[in-house]
Amino acid sequence: MKKYAFGIDIGGTTVKIGLFSEEGDLTKKWEIPTRKDNGGCYILSDIAKSVEEEMKKQGILKDEILGIGIDVPGPVLEERIVNKCANLGWGVLDVTAEIRRLTGIEKVMVTNDANSATLGEMWKGGGQGHKDLVMITLGTGIGGGIVHDGKIIAGAFGAAGEIGHICVNKEETFVCGCGKKGHLEQYASATGIVKKAQQVLDESDRPSMLRDETYLSCKAVFDCAKKGDDLSLQILDFVGEQLGNACAMISAVFDPEVYVIGGGVSKAGELLIDLIRDHYKKYAFHASVNTEFVLATLGNDAGMYGAVKMVL
Ligand SMILES: [Zn+2]
Repeated sequence: MKKYAFGIDIGGTTVKIGLFSEEGDLTKKWEIPTRKDNGGCYILSDIAKSVEEEMKKQGILKDEILGIGIDVPGPVLEERIVNKCANLGWGVLDVTAEIRRLTGIEKVMVTNDANSATLGEMWKGGGQGHKDLVMITLGTGIGGGIVHDGKIIAGAFGAAGEIGHICVNKEETFVCGCGKKGHLEQYASATGIVKKAQQVLDESDRPSMLRDETYLSCKAVFDCAKKGDDLSLQILDFVGEQLGNACAMISAVFDPEVYVIGGGVSKAGELLIDLIRDHYKKYAFHASVNTEFVLATLGNDAGMYGAVKMVL
C-alpha cells in the first residue's frame, strides 16, 4: 500500500498545500485563499475540506495518510498549540486537536513558518547533507532558523533564530519593526536595502543607473550592481557587511556548518553570497572562517517540505 502525507504552509494571504509521498517527494501542490474574517475561524475547516476533496479525487484512503504537518506565521507551543497569531486573527488555538477533529487523521504536528522553512531546506534544499545549520530568510523583514544535530532550536522563550533583531548599529536613530533600534533587519531586509539606497542617492550627486529607475526596488539595486553600477555596488557592499558581521557573531556562539540564505532578496544569487562571505571572513573567529554560505533552493515550497518532514 502506498503512503502519503500532507505538508501545509499557512500564510497571511494563501494556504499552500502539498501532497507528498512517503519518501518525501512532492506529488502535487495547490493553494487556497486564507480566509481571515471572523477571527480566522474558517481557515482550518477550509484546509480540511480541500485535503479531503483531493484525497477523494485521487482515491486515497484515510489509512494511507501518515500525517499532516502544518506551519503558521506565529509562535507554536508543544508542536500543536498556536500562541496568538495576529496575521491569521487567531488567539490561542490547538491546531492539532482541531485538524484531528475535522479530518479524523491522527498524526498532526504544527510549527512556525521560519522553523519549517529551515527544516525543509535542510532536508531537501540548499542545506542537504548538513545537521548544524542556520537559515536566514531575507524578505520584507528578516527571519531565521537554527538547526542543531538535525533538530530545530526554539529557545527558552521561543526567540531562537530571530536573526533580524541582532543589533548591528548602536548609533541608529530610526526604529526597527520590533521597537528597538539598529537591528539587522533595518539594513539587510528588502525594505532596509531600498531605504539605504534612497539615503545614499539623496546624500550625493554621484551618477548612478539607479537614478533612472522610476521605482526604486531592491531588485533594481542588485540588477544595477550586476551591470557594474558603482553606487549600487557600494550599497550592496554595506548590506553584505551587515550580514557578514551578524553571521560572524552567530558563529562565535553556535558555529554552524553552513548558512543557507533564502527569501526574495536571495534571488540576487551568488553576488549576495560572495559579499556576505567576504565580510564574514573579516570578522569571524579563525576557527570558523571557512563556514559555507549557500543559497536556499526550495523557494516558497520550503515551508511545505519542512511541515511534512515533521510527520514523516
Ligand atoms: Zn528589531
